[in-house]
Amino acid sequence: MQITENRVRISEIFTSIEGEGIFVGTKTMFVRLAGCHLKCRWCDTGYALPFNSGKEYSIEEAKELIDSQIQPFTYKVNFTGGEPLLQYEALIPIADFVKNRKGLKTYIESSCFDSFRFSKVLEYFDICKIEFKTPDSGVTEEISYQELLLNEFKCLELAKEHNKTTYIKVVITNSTEIAIFKVLVNNIFAKIEPSNISGFVIQPSYGIDEPKLEKLLNFYDIVYPLYPEVRIIPQLHKQIGAR
Ligand code: SF4
Repeated sequence: MQITENRVRISEIFTSIEGEGIFVGTKTMFVRLAGCHLKCRWCDTGYALPFNSGKEYSIEEAKELIDSQIQPFTYKVNFTGGEPLLQYEALIPIADFVKNRKGLKTYIESSCFDSFRFSKVLEYFDICKIEFKTPDSGVTEEISYQELLLNEFKCLELAKEHNKTTYIKVVITNSTEIAIFKVLVNNIFAKIEPSNISGFVIQPSYGIDEPKLEKLLNFYDIVYPLYPEVRIIPQLHKQIGAR
């Protein structure tokens, strides 16, 4: 991504209801950074994927914009995308401002494609969602899928080491293979203890290749013996027509 030093490209900033994961239902400010190089077939923010989408700001302008839009009783600020780690150098001063100057909880929603970048921004975040993509996400080519997986595992371990509030999310479609999911879940709990995470969310895909209830329950049954607090949580904001 070509971006001048000390500048950031932001797709949109808005306040809504958190529609995903274990913090579902909380009043949240979303800071959506522009650009993503991945290609998940269920991606619902296509408008934010081009690297020239959104608008470019100086870091100071971005901080002022966020400051002017923060609503009272905001539970957290969710830095999402696009892929926020693509602009990790800009993310650091902005997340630092929100966490340490404004005193708000910061949350990172990333594909975890690069554990080096993740390690650089981690200190400025309170909450980490670690998403594990399955091969049927179509996220990337087979060879780079393995690399993506490796980085997701490294990010999970980094979040654990730094005692972040961390939860895992896996999107399930009707095409997700149960055997692949089982290996993934076993590998996750070979690396962490259940007490290291605050949740494990199975998120059914929405509007594309949606999984049947029976299939979702089969996936739940795989996680439950290792992590009984597993939850199946659909995207709330889509049910109520919110952004
Ligand atoms: S990683 Fe996120 S933003 Fe990028 S294509 Fe996938 S769902 Fe969309």
